[in-house]
Amino acid sequence: MLHMVVHTHDPQDCPFRGKDAAEPMIAALESFVAPTPDRKIEVRGSWASRGAHEIFLLVEAPDAHAIEDALLASGLVARSHSRVLPVVLLADALRTMSAASA
Ligand SMILES: [Zn+2]
Repeated sequence: MLHMVVHTHDPQDCPFRGKDAAEPMIAALESFVAPTPDRKIEVRGSWASRGAHEIFLLVEAPDAHAIEDALLASGLVARSHSRVLPVVLLADALRTMSAASA
């Protein structure tokens, strides 16, 4: 299942403030996205909105619990707010709408 993980941090914790803030956040993000054989998740894409202090990670995972386990293991839980949203391709959503209205 696809999930969009949305990370938000406060400006006072922003990695752009300097090395002290950047290094732990970069290490946590690198740990989260790194592919390893024993992981249940795979990061398919990532984006950032610097001004909104948000990071978006498209993650394939069996469920949200697997993502939360990876968030804990990477250290991101201690550095940012995370929302895990189940997502589908828009084309699949449109087919669902058509079927529901038939
Ligand atoms: Zn920021």
